[in-house]
Amino acid sequence: MGKTNIVVCGAGGFIGGHLVEHFRQNDDYFVRAVDIKPYNEWFQIFDNVENLQLDLREKKSCEISVKSMHRVYNLAADMGGIGFIENNKAMCMLSVLINTHLLQASKSSNVKQYFYASSACVYNADKQKNTNVVPLKEGDAYPAMPEDGYGWEKLFSERMCRHFHEDFNLSTNIYRFHNVYGPHGTYDGGREKAPAAICRKVIDAKLTNKHEIEIWGDGNQTRSFMYITDCIKGMELITEKNIHEPLNLGSNELITINGLVDMVEDIAGIKLLRKHDLSAPKGVNGRNSDNTRIMELLGWEPNVPLKTGMELTYKWIYDQICKKYN
Ligand code: NAD
Repeated sequence: MGKTNIVVCGAGGFIGGHLVEHFRQNDDYFVRAVDIKPYNEWFQIFDNVENLQLDLREKKSCEISVKSMHRVYNLAADMGGIGFIENNKAMCMLSVLINTHLLQASKSSNVKQYFYASSACVYNADKQKNTNVVPLKEGDAYPAMPEDGYGWEKLFSERMCRHFHEDFNLSTNIYRFHNVYGPHGTYDGGREKAPAAICRKVIDAKLTNKHEIEIWGDGNQTRSFMYITDCIKGMELITEKNIHEPLNLGSNELITINGLVDMVEDIAGIKLLRKHDLSAPKGVNGRNSDNTRIMELLGWEPNVPLKTGMELTYKWIYDQICKKYN
């Protein structure tokens, strides 16, 4: 049997880089990796895959990317943590061009399976007003009132995947990621998310001996965070089962942001004076993943304990920052 040809779009990013790393170890796959960033900015880059620097908002780039591919993973998006998505709504929405052109090119190229990285930001904001959360079930995306900008783009693109499946028989799979974290991702510069941002702030405090930390909001907002190895494992299982309905892919280990700071302080062996910036963007008050459906379909749910994943993430960020100091 010949190899399965896979293209990972957004391969220079956090999740895309880990996905390429996962596939490239298996001789059954030929892997193409595509990203808009110059190669020296990719979080992970490998020489036994085909690397392409292309702007996937352009239809021609999408046609080049999916040519001769059996599977397309669309992880390319202009995105970041809450500080980025609240202040760059138009840019986030323009990622619709990537998914639109990739779907069209995939249909024309007879791609066998197409994967779209959606987000928990598609969920109705009214269901996320309390810190004491009711976990979000897949059906809670409707009636639609997603995160403005970024979430609307994700919800629209999910539906486009659905209709390409129904109308054109392109096999589409949609993951709704809930806060993914781990090594080889953004930890500074404005696009970082809470786990990496908190690690960086604690490490900075430790290395500079300035024992303070700024926290966005009152810190009582609740979230769940999925470690990257669970994310890759979940994607693999969804691929195998070829599930077409949008599915939560997230941990259901709930924690407050203050609790996450406690955890990172503990890992670092330090206690910091907390300064809460109540005017900073903080997103919804509470969000957790209801994993009933993924358990029904896969008999599996993300299960890496937050403390374990945060220890690994902290260590990686610590090493990166130390390299900069030296
Ligand atoms: P990331 O920012 O690290 O990676 C996205 C990559 O897409 C970047 O390397 C970027 O350069 C690339 N890209 C952006 N515009 C492009 C373009 N026009 N052409 C080609 N490449 C382009 O983000 P990530 O955390 O790896 O997220 C991957 C996907 O998962 C995204 O669609 C994101 O919205 C989704 N997601 C992520 C999380 C999370 O917690 N990380 C949560 C929910 C959803």
